[in-house]
Amino acid sequence: MRFLLAGTLATVTAAGLATIRPPVLTEVEKAAAREIREDRMRADIRFLSSDLLEGRGPATRGDALARAYIASRLEAIGLEPGAPGGTWEQPVDLVGVTATCPPVLRVVRDGAGEDLRFVDDYVAYSGVPESEVTLRDAEVVFVGYGIVAPEYRWDDYKGADLRGRVLLFLNDEPKADPKLFAGERRLYYGRWDYKHEMAAKMGAAAAIVLHTDASAGYGWKVVPASWTGEQLSLPAAPGDPTLPVKGWVTEAAGRRIARLAGRDLDALRSAAETREFRPVPLGVRVSLTLRNDVRRRSTANVIALLRGRDPDLAREAVLYTAHHDHYGVKPGPSAEPVVYNGALDNASGVAALLGIAEAFAALPARPRRSILFAAVAAEEHGLLGSEHLARHPPVPAGRLAANINLDGMNIWGRTRDVPVIGLGKSSLDDWIRAVAEAQGRVVVPEAFPDEGAYYRSDHLSFARVGVPAAFVDAGTEVVGKPPGWGRARQRQWEDAHYHQPSDDLTAEWDLAGAVEDAQLLFHVGAKVADAPLAPVWRRGDEFEAARKRALAEVDPGSFTRPSRVPSE
Ligand SMILES: [Zn+2]
Repeated sequence: MRFLLAGTLATVTAAGLATIRPPVLTEVEKAAAREIREDRMRADIRFLSSDLLEGRGPATRGDALARAYIASRLEAIGLEPGAPGGTWEQPVDLVGVTATCPPVLRVVRDGAGEDLRFVDDYVAYSGVPESEVTLRDAEVVFVGYGIVAPEYRWDDYKGADLRGRVLLFLNDEPKADPKLFAGERRLYYGRWDYKHEMAAKMGAAAAIVLHTDASAGYGWKVVPASWTGEQLSLPAAPGDPTLPVKGWVTEAAGRRIARLAGRDLDALRSAAETREFRPVPLGVRVSLTLRNDVRRRSTANVIALLRGRDPDLAREAVLYTAHHDHYGVKPGPSAEPVVYNGALDNASGVAALLGIAEAFAALPARPRRSILFAAVAAEEHGLLGSEHLARHPPVPAGRLAANINLDGMNIWGRTRDVPVIGLGKSSLDDWIRAVAEAQGRVVVPEAFPDEGAYYRSDHLSFARVGVPAAFVDAGTEVVGKPPGWGRARQRQWEDAHYHQPSDDLTAEWDLAGAVEDAQLLFHVGAKVADAPLAPVWRRGDEFEAARKRALAEVDPGSFTRPSRVPSE
C-alpha cells in the first residue's frame, strides 16, 4: 500500500483512509498556473543574477538590493508583508568567524607524536565567536558514528561523560545492516552537521570528522575549500549548546592517530558497525589555539503572505521557500575580484517562487489555508536564513502544513520525469505524483540517494522542526532529446558551473521545463492548501517525532480532526 493522505495521529487506521485520486486540475487552476511565464521568469533571473547585484553575498549591498527587488515584486503581485510584525523583511543576524589555524597540529601520547599539517591533513574552525579558542591537552575519544537513534535502538555514547573531550567521528551512518538507517539512503544521522550538533550536546571541546571520499560523496579538496576563510553562523541563543572547535581530518591522518593510540582504524570502524559499540578513549591528546577574527553582520528573509479564505484553516499555511543569496564577490586566480552571479543557484528558484506567487494571486478564490512565500538568506553558508525562519516562523511550525522548496530550476527544457528528492518520506509525494500524472509526467526517485541531497537545501530546516517538506529536482528525460542527453547536460553544467563564477544566464537556457515544474509545485501547494488534512511523514520517518512535538505545541486544530479523508 502506498502511504496516504492521512491524519498525523496514531489513531489513523487503514480502514479510515482513502488514496488520493489524480486531482482533476480545473480550468480555473490551469489558467492561474499559466501566470507562471517563461518571459517573466527570465527577466527576474536576469536582474537577480546581473553583475550589479555583486553575487548577492549575505550582508552586502547586493544582498540588500536583491531583497528590495523581491519585496517590490511580491508587493506588486498583490501579496501582504508576511514577516512577523507585518513587514516584508525578517532580519537575520549572523556571526562571521575567520579562524587562523596553526600550520601543524600535534597529536601526542607518552612523548611520541604525530604532526598533522593544516589543509593537507586537517582543517579546523571555531564554533564560538571568541577571539581565541584553546584546547589544552584534550583527550581524543573515538565515538564511531556518534548517533543516538531510539527508533533503531542505537546509542553510540552509552552514557559516557565526554565533556571537554575531542570526539573523533566517522562520517555517514552504519552500513552493515541494510535494515537499519534506511539502507542505502543517507539520513540526517549520516551528515557531518549532525555529528557537530551531537558533540555540542555532549559538552565536548571539539568534533573531528574523519573524511573519506566515499562517506562524503566528494574529495578532500572540497573540505579545506569549504571550511577555511570566514564561516557564517546564527548567533547562539541562550542555552544553546556550542562547540568550541569543529574540524576534519583525512583518512590517512585518522589512520596515523589510531596507530599512535596503538589501535587499528579498520578495527575501530568495524566495532562502530554494531549496537554494542561504546566510545573508545584513545589515550592521545591534542593542544590547539585558534585565533579568530569575529564580525557581526545582518541580512534578512523576505516574506509575503496570501491569507487563506477559510476562517479556521487560514491559521495554517503552506510555505514556499527559495534562497536569494549566493557567494558574492571572491578573489579570482590572480586576486582580481570575481562575481559569483548564481543565476541557476538560486536566482532561478526565486524567479519560480515569484511565478508561483503570481499564479496564486490569479486564483479567483484564495485557497482555504494561507500561503507564505519566503526568499530566505544565507543558504550557501549553511541554510542559515531558513534555520532562523524555522526557529521564528510567522506561523508556528505545528501549523505549517508543508514546505515546498525551490533551489536550482531546470534550464534544459521540458521533461517527462519529475525526480523527487527524498521520495518516500512523506505523503506530499502523493500530491506530487497526482499532479505530475495530470501533466502527463512521471515521478521518479532521486538519482543518487546515498548523497543525502535531502539534507542540503532549505527544506531541511523545516523538516527538522517537523514540517513535511518537498524538494523536486530537475528532470533528465528531456522532451524531444535522445535518452541520456538531459543527464549529460546536467552533469556538464555541474562540472563547469556549479558554485562557479560562470553560473550565468545565457541564451542557451530553456526555461520551459522550469515553468512546468513551477506549475506542478503551484498545483501541489494549492491542493495541500485546500485539503481537509495536512500531509504527514511516513510512519517511522526520522522527522515524525519532531512533527508530533510541533503539533503538541499548538492548540488542537485541523490536523487533529478525525482522520477520515473525503475523496477529492
Ligand atoms: Zn548553492
